Amino acid sequence: TQDDKWIAIDDYIAENFLEADPALDAALAASEAAGLPAIQVAPLQGKLLMMLAAAMGARRILEIGTLGGYSTIWLAHGLAEGGRLITLDMNPDYAEVARGNIANAGLADRVEIRVGKALDTLPLLEAEGAGPFDLIFIDADKPSTPDYFDWAVRLARQGSLIVVDNVVREGAILAAQSDNKHVKGLRGFYARAAADPRVTATAIQTVGNKGHDGLAIMLVTAEPD
Ligand code: SAM
Repeated sequence: TQDDKWIAIDDYIAENFLEADPALDAALAASEAAGLPAIQVAPLQGKLLMMLAAAMGARRILEIGTLGGYSTIWLAHGLAEGGRLITLDMNPDYAEVARGNIANAGLADRVEIRVGKALDTLPLLEAEGAGPFDLIFIDADKPSTPDYFDWAVRLARQGSLIVVDNVVREGAILAAQSDNKHVKGLRGFYARAAADPRVTATAIQTVGNKGHDGLAIMLVTAEPD
């Protein structure tokens, strides 16, 4: 089938381009053992996040949606010397697993997990002046994505990148009349990002082990108000 082809190509790319990383493998194994859902980013997409961070010399990274810390570890590997990453998740059990995985990867000194609903913890970040963040990765509950996008811009600077996961959903994103709350949330995000003069956006469709999905990538072009 077409899916088998995409997966075979994904595997081929991974065999060529993915270095072995025991800490990332261990994070996946520990997450699975703890019963976490396997909804982390695909390895090649994790590597893309790492490379975006490294290319921009990111010193501050914000992630919304930690799960077991798999994407967190990729992102933290892209941090510049002395850089820091804050990741938000509402599930304390997931955060505990992520803490172990991050410590095992030797990143505990630069990664901080904040437990709570992101719409509660984001205002606290702003209040304490934690930003601006160079790179913000949004990968939590999809209905809140429009709000997370607003927060991301607020906590960014001119030149920051904002990345949003799962923006294609096997094409479900085309269903304008959908009652699916995930689709509605992401369509709301598209509308908001399209209308926001402070960002310029693109998206790449992804295929392979995680099915057909996509990543939106936005560049903050103007100083947030
Ligand atoms: N970024 C992770 C990775 O690729 O390894 C995957 C994150 S998973 C797709 C989504 C996460 O968002 C879950 O761990 C879930 O607990 C968290 N989440 C859901 N609703 C949330 C909320 N309102 N505030 C913060 N985190 C939330």
